[in-house]
Amino acid sequence: MLAESGGWYPSSLWYARMSSVELMNVLVVEDSVAAMQVVTKVLKQSGHRVVGVATIADAVESMLLTQPDLVILDLGLPDGDGLDLCRAIRERSNAYILILTGRADEADKVAGFQVGADDYVTKPFSPSELIARVDALARRPRARLDETPERVFGDLVVRPSLRQVELGGVPIELTRLEFDLIDQFTADPQQVLTREQLMERVWGHNWFGGDHLVDVHIGNLRKKFAVVSDREIVRTVRGIGFCLAT
Ligand code: CA
Repeated sequence: MLAESGGWYPSSLWYARMSSVELMNVLVVEDSVAAMQVVTKVLKQSGHRVVGVATIADAVESMLLTQPDLVILDLGLPDGDGLDLCRAIRERSNAYILILTGRADEADKVAGFQVGADDYVTKPFSPSELIARVDALARRPRARLDETPERVFGDLVVRPSLRQVELGGVPIELTRLEFDLIDQFTADPQQVLTREQLMERVWGHNWFGGDHLVDVHIGNLRKKFAVVSDREIVRTVRGIGFCLAT
């Protein structure tokens, strides 16, 4: 195919890798200039697209602007601990997280995995080992946030682009408003949404109806789920609002 005229492939080995490994958008969070240069070089040689930042603040901003497939994360950063960033990324993104750090103790590695890292490489590191580990992550099947067709929470499956919901494998027929509500709850399963937030997001800014409408439609939603399962799907958080029951 491409190889016929593509004289720019450095080696047949590289071409073999290119054809079997998915190329990724990689965010590298690293304050050491030397380490950043090595990591960036080895990723780009493998065809991955790289954005590099040196602080947690810039990493957070970059995560909002782009949706990386992989975050390579140093732990000792000038404005905080990379473990906190790792936890925050894991709550909001399906990106792979590879911790690249000088902290080599077992307790540090365990802490990294506990906050959601997919892999852990200690410095000094071998560039070829790093790229082998990146490739291993790229081969791992995982729903990616930017194109994810499904949100799965146990037996609850929501397919936003198709506006479909299944509970225990049974399709649930929802009205537009009911779907929009479950869409809100599953888009950010950690977040409790107030009636006002739901009114604004589902009904829109210009809606003048009372917020008891939220309770009515959530009641309807619960009835439809209850036909299939008695498990709680939408939880009432007293005095605040509602969230997904997980
Ligand atoms: Ca560092």
